[in-house]
Amino acid sequence: MTGSDLMQSLATRVAERDRAGLLRRARTVDAARSVHVQIDGRELLNFCSNDYLGLAQDKRIIKALQKAANESGIGSTAAHLVCGHRREHAQLEDALCEWTGREAALLFSSGWLANLGAMQALLARDAVCVQDKLNHASLLDAAQLADATLKRYPHGNAEGAARQLAGAKERPALLATDGVFSMDGDVAPLRELAALCKRENVALMVDDAHGLGVLGTHGTGSVSEAGLSQTDVPILMATLGKALGCMGAFVAGSRALIEGLTQFARTFVYTTAMPPALAAATCEAARIARTEDWRREKLQSLVARFRQGAAQLGLPLPESRTAIQPIVLGDTAHTVAASRTLEDHGFLVTAIRPPTVPQGKARLRVTLSAAHSEGDVDRLLDALTLVTEDTG
Ligand SMILES: *Cc1c(COP(=O)(O)O)cnc(C)c1O
Repeated sequence: MTGSDLMQSLATRVAERDRAGLLRRARTVDAARSVHVQIDGRELLNFCSNDYLGLAQDKRIIKALQKAANESGIGSTAAHLVCGHRREHAQLEDALCEWTGREAALLFSSGWLANLGAMQALLARDAVCVQDKLNHASLLDAAQLADATLKRYPHGNAEGAARQLAGAKERPALLATDGVFSMDGDVAPLRELAALCKRENVALMVDDAHGLGVLGTHGTGSVSEAGLSQTDVPILMATLGKALGCMGAFVAGSRALIEGLTQFARTFVYTTAMPPALAAATCEAARIARTEDWRREKLQSLVARFRQGAAQLGLPLPESRTAIQPIVLGDTAHTVAASRTLEDHGFLVTAIRPPTVPQGKARLRVTLSAAHSEGDVDRLLDALTLVTEDTG
């Protein structure tokens, strides 16, 4: 293949995606004020961000960022192992350990990089990695990029996981699952999976991107809510860009795990450390997320209000007690039209289409935030009657 063949083949795939109505485009948000965003000159009420606790614009966190930036500048100037690891990073790692009840933690610049780095460090070539079919793309890709053998089990099905493990007894294996599934909002059967992993001597890894800050006592996440310890879930990963309203991620676990990742996680070793001011801001975000229980209580009450209203409207709402409340409409064109209708009425709810979700499972991924008011939720429910009328 020549260079122009490559470009041609890329353009062909784009054209195919376009014909299927699946082309993706970033919308430019011109201004954001809490849950209100301005796009194309119009103000929209945002129901698709991952700012579950309403911290992305918290004044105290902004102040922490500014103060640290004044003291330590913008860039960390190097990877952690060169000279990029600042006091602010060390403090954030300590705070995350303490919050999640883990011995040690390692910062990564994003959740993608954390999953990639952890799996590449842990999995030998051809090791078997068993995963939930609906795991986040970064976990599924991480196993494949590590040259492991990826075996997927039916969503949320611990027996399916057991069957996959049974076929792979001879080789060391890792079982990885989202704690809260990013497109469905349901929680993995963590206790069953932990029991299975213990029985089969398999390491369990949980990606708690949507659980940290939202579930568990003081927001400690889905793993602690399930009553599981570092022994049960030796590899805990979570992101800092969702409920914490910042950016970045970490892996937490035993000192031995973190020592291993420090040596062998290439996405940690060979990348610039996040800005120290961002680490300082995230430290403040973690403090607030941990101590302000009212944010979780408010979120839960909005979730209950939304689910009750949506049930009255007869909307197809899968089981979810988290901030993620998808309305699975199925048909892609219909879902895109529904998203447009909502936008015409002042609501931003992006349509999530294949291949992000399986064929026939397109959805409006509604997400709620502690920054929403009850009135916001009621207004969204009113607008959703238009969507049900379309469906009817
Ligand atoms: C968002 C997400 C990631 C990726 O995290 P980033 O910090 O956005 O790269 C990983 N896993 C899950 C389950 C996620 O939802």
